[in-house]
Amino acid sequence: MNDGRDSFHLLTNRNTMATKSLKARHEQLAEVTRQMEILNGGIFESGELPYFRDKIAETNQAPLRPKPLEILQINVGYMCNQVCEHCHVDAGPDRKEIMTRETMEQCLEVIRNTGAHTLDLTGGAPEMNPNFRWFVEEAAKAGIKDFIVRSNLTIIRANKKYYDLPEFFARHNVHIVSSLPHYTRGKTDKQRGDGVFDKSIKALQELNRVGYGMPGSPLKLDLVYNPSGAFLPGDQAALEADFKKALKEDFNIEFHQLFAITNLPIARFLDYLIASENYEDYMAALVDAYNPEAVQNVMCTNTISVGWDGWLYDCDFNQMLGMKVDSKIRHIKDYREDVLQDRNILISQHCYGCTAGAGSSCQGTVA
Ligand code: SF4
Ligand code: SF4
Repeated sequence: MNDGRDSFHLLTNRNTMATKSLKARHEQLAEVTRQMEILNGGIFESGELPYFRDKIAETNQAPLRPKPLEILQINVGYMCNQVCEHCHVDAGPDRKEIMTRETMEQCLEVIRNTGAHTLDLTGGAPEMNPNFRWFVEEAAKAGIKDFIVRSNLTIIRANKKYYDLPEFFARHNVHIVSSLPHYTRGKTDKQRGDGVFDKSIKALQELNRVGYGMPGSPLKLDLVYNPSGAFLPGDQAALEADFKKALKEDFNIEFHQLFAITNLPIARFLDYLIASENYEDYMAALVDAYNPEAVQNVMCTNTISVGWDGWLYDCDFNQMLGMKVDSKIRHIKDYREDVLQDRNILISQHCYGCTAGAGSSCQGTVA
């Protein structure tokens, strides 16, 4: 069986965290064409596992079509202060793809007129975009019901210029959603880098200090858990209870909800799967856990994802695979929600990550 390893070399000494993106290391997996070859070939091409399109067709769910738009997700750039092992963006300090002010202006025009109730800013570390604060101030004026910023926490402690981010977020009533793979130092640092856990804890305490995550507080602070290896997440409610207990007891930290997210087999997680010789077993586990009920609520059915350069995608994962929307409208400058809503969603085998078990989206489980 071809496990995808034969034609490119493995990239890292797995005893050490990589400090550069796949792109900066000129790895073949930085190319989306190579990722797509792997996802479409091997065990799927041989028929050992079914293609996602055939799987959803079994329950008459093909083609996948959008429901009313609820979430506008905007990726303001791939630069990040971290280089997490499982990053599906392949983000890092070396990534130069940053949304310009001109594209942000085009996004603002859309934000002011969209029917979506949620605006979701992501990256990289979105705060590293030099126009981030201006963009947040302008977007907050549009009065979108739920304004999310995906903050990696450590950015708040990375440099003095970011220390006041908790107050800034609070002023604009931003909803913070942050990754914390585990409530123990060892598991978090293994996935996200040495020292990440301690900085994340400090950042969470700073967010609590201004009211984020406190019981009854309107300043929402949610955490995201993703597995630290080639396995599916456990029960979201049970994980949330464990996180709440441990973070309260050990660090007096409060937060609102925990979202459990499945790692999708793209970019650095795909690299990790191949290098650890887990790719085929992981894909088989995802297919095995396929839940047809999760298909109706996968993220792409109520979301439009905007790339740093303004191109439009069905979701953040399709963005990272370069799969632009199948529509006459493909760029934010031409945005027309009515036209975009009439499209087929593009899918591939990575989509099994969204339909395994209780399903997975940027808002956690879906079924
Ligand atoms: S997972 Fe998030 S914090 Fe980690 S490198 Fe990727 S974008 Fe940065
Ligand atoms: S990966 Fe994207 S397109 Fe595929 S099911 Fe998930 S949200 Fe939809």
